[in-house]
Amino acid sequence: MKVGVLNESCESEKRVALTPDTAKKLSSKPGLDLVFEKGLGESLKISDKEYVDAGATADTKENILKNSDVVVRISLDKSEISMMKEGAISISSLDPYNNKDILDEFNSSKVTGLSLEMIPRTTRAQKMDILSSQANIAGYAMVMLAASGLQKILPMMTTPAGTIRPARVFIIGVGVAGLQAIATAKRLGAIVEAFDTRPVVEEQVKSLGAKFVKVNLGETGETKDGYAKELTKEQIAIQQDAMKKTALNADIVITTAKLFGRKAPVVITKDVVENMKKGSVLVDMAVESGGNIEGSVDGETVDINGVKIIGVSNLPSEYAESSSNMLSNNIYNLMDEFWDNEKESLVLKPEDDIVQGVKITENGAIVNENIKSFYNK
Ligand code: NAD
Repeated sequence: MKVGVLNESCESEKRVALTPDTAKKLSSKPGLDLVFEKGLGESLKISDKEYVDAGATADTKENILKNSDVVVRISLDKSEISMMKEGAISISSLDPYNNKDILDEFNSSKVTGLSLEMIPRTTRAQKMDILSSQANIAGYAMVMLAASGLQKILPMMTTPAGTIRPARVFIIGVGVAGLQAIATAKRLGAIVEAFDTRPVVEEQVKSLGAKFVKVNLGETGETKDGYAKELTKEQIAIQQDAMKKTALNADIVITTAKLFGRKAPVVITKDVVENMKKGSVLVDMAVESGGNIEGSVDGETVDINGVKIIGVSNLPSEYAESSSNMLSNNIYNLMDEFWDNEKESLVLKPEDDIVQGVKITENGAIVNENIKSFYNK
């Protein structure tokens, strides 16, 4: 079975879907013929020779698309789907709730589309979970970005020349990225406060040595998959008001409050930004899905009255070596789980819960139950 790995088509993407280490593990699977597009590791200064030494063969994009049974990359390029073989499997992130056009293209080309973001959040699937691995890097990256944009240091410093008080960091949204942001800011010596609408998070925040900001929003809770439930308009208004007090005291505000597959809620309004201390820095991780901070712009740093709002959607790409290592391990673990050594091919058993989560299209139709009901609403 031929597995082809393609370069990313988005110029700002510095991550790669395959590292030489994972290439070596993949190419040693019985019956797996690993091919990569020339220049695959360029952004990380990985040479083609390193992939060849790991057992892979270099080829052109056109040949890989035309001949591969499995095509792997981080972000799919819709225009290339029609060049794939009928029945081929595409492995990438897809954002299937927002990209119906890609699903249509898969169906007209009869390509089996897997979406890496749809790996179930279960213990067995953790090693394949790109959302978690990349969110960890993003959590770290947000603190680094904010700290380097601040004209103060984060830790307390007592010196003969005087004492510097520690910076105050407020983190809103404490999923995987938020927890890593708390841990990173704490390591740097900041005073950290955090808030999330899921009540279970309070203990996790406290266990990292941060303070949980309490807000009475009434019924909130989480879905069966552990995601936050959408707040009502009234709850959002209460939250916005409650965030104000802590944000006005903060030097850094980091927001990661996302709703899986849907638009992110605005949790910091413009009047709060306008009244924050001059020199404060905000980082909005939800900028790509609408933004948690009013006024944030994807790919830009906006200055409002001396307060900076940093909007970067692809934070893991800022630390591309570490994030590529994790991402390529996630992809390897998925292939490893379903590689049948006797049949020498990838066998996606329809009854498997990971397959049911990750497989979106097959044989010209949407097969994922959640996505099917989302579009049939
Ligand atoms: P996410 O990126 O979807 O959201 C980030 C955080 O924002 C979440 O904690 C969410 O509760 C919070 N949020 C949403 N609306 C908010 C609002 N208005 N104000 C404040 N916060 C708000 O989340 P994620 O990091 O992908 O994690 C989602 C869940 O999945 C968590 O429960 C996490 O523990 C769980 N998880 C489980 C596994 C596993 O079991 N294998 C792996 C990873 C994550």
